[in-house]
Amino acid sequence: MNLHEYQGKDMLASFGVAIQRGIVAKTAVEAVDAAKQLTENTGTQWHVIKAQIHAGGRGKGGGVKLAKNLEELEVIAEQIIGMMLVTPQTPPMGKKVNQVLVAEDVYYPGTSEPSEYYMSVLLNRTTGKNMIMYSTEGGMDIEAVAEDTPHLIFTEEIDPALGLLPFQARKIAFNLGLSGTAFKDMIKFVSSLYKAYIGSDASLFEINPVLKTSDDKIIAVDAKVTLDDNGLFRQKELAALRDLSEENPVEVEAREVGLNYVDLEGNVGCMVNGAGLAMATMDLIKQAGGDPANFLDVGGTADAARVEMAFRLILKDPNVKAILINIFGGIVRCDRVAQGIVDAYLNLGDTIQVPIIVRLQGTNADIAKELIDSSGLNVLSATAFQEAADKVQEAIT
Ligand code: GDP
Ligand code: MN
Repeated sequence: MNLHEYQGKDMLASFGVAIQRGIVAKTAVEAVDAAKQLTENTGTQWHVIKAQIHAGGRGKGGGVKLAKNLEELEVIAEQIIGMMLVTPQTPPMGKKVNQVLVAEDVYYPGTSEPSEYYMSVLLNRTTGKNMIMYSTEGGMDIEAVAEDTPHLIFTEEIDPALGLLPFQARKIAFNLGLSGTAFKDMIKFVSSLYKAYIGSDASLFEINPVLKTSDDKIIAVDAKVTLDDNGLFRQKELAALRDLSEENPVEVEAREVGLNYVDLEGNVGCMVNGAGLAMATMDLIKQAGGDPANFLDVGGTADAARVEMAFRLILKDPNVKAILINIFGGIVRCDRVAQGIVDAYLNLGDTIQVPIIVRLQGTNADIAKELIDSSGLNVLSATAFQEAADKVQEAIT
């Protein structure tokens, strides 16, 4: 689950991470009020208006703008709120901006030039350790830095039993070329950032840029936060921040009924029980010359109600040319599943316009096949994996 920048920053601040302060606003009037309040609280004269969408690269797309007075701010807020913001990370038509973060200007002039750094916290799946990735080349495309000047990206791996050790935080501050107050501030910043990462059950933090202000403070100017869905059960407050308007509506509906569904681009819908079998089935579809339209794990209880729900979800996708049902009947016997498929098919009536290929294996598979074959419906049964693949191929060509 992803957080908006303003939500991520609030969460970071609650762990003691220094952030660029801001107030979220849904209208231009609210934005002006927010700006006045920020000036009162922070003394800032200028403000940045930042589009809140679940995508990066907003600055480049015109979703982050500086306002030097309240008139300017109102015009900019008017412009950004409601716009379809296109960035390298959004779909081509962009994403609708429903709210903006009005933030204090932190690039004010002072004794030194502000510097932008890059910092992320994530899991290295190869070593099984969290790591902090950081670079002096912040504020820009980190992918480009990785491509052109990979030696400017550092990583610090963290032993899960020991946590982030003080010498590691010092090393990071040192590698970023800091000294004096900024050096001490960076140590505090890194330590609290890692505490926040562990404390929020996050799977990714990306802070780009981390800013050294002209008066040597270290603060988070941006915050991309991804939380581990498996930890949300014990992160009730964070889980409540979910913005459903940012998510795929079919996936939202699937989650509500307890189905594990991920929308994909392809033309063959699949309905499977068990994540491993689902992966294998997606490979099978690929081999048959198709492309999976979704990942769908109906779980252990493939009864008529669930099968029907799964059908409904798959059929919402206009690209689907065929549906492959591949279910292993263990505790749930195959004949039960087959009956569920037939019942669901009859319930859905005319909504099903595409061929359905069903492979049931396991307890009572033969009875199940019999049931499908004699149903008189546009459902093809298959016993072997290859046979199912061939029938899928036939259906889509
Ligand atoms: P992103 O483009 O989606 O990554 O959004 P960011 O939050 O990183 O903001 C984009 C850029 O806006 C930053 O890299 C800064 O250059 C600029 N920016 C952000 N905050 C301020 C600010 O307070 N003052 C000024 N002048 N520029 C800012
Ligand atoms: Mn950024």
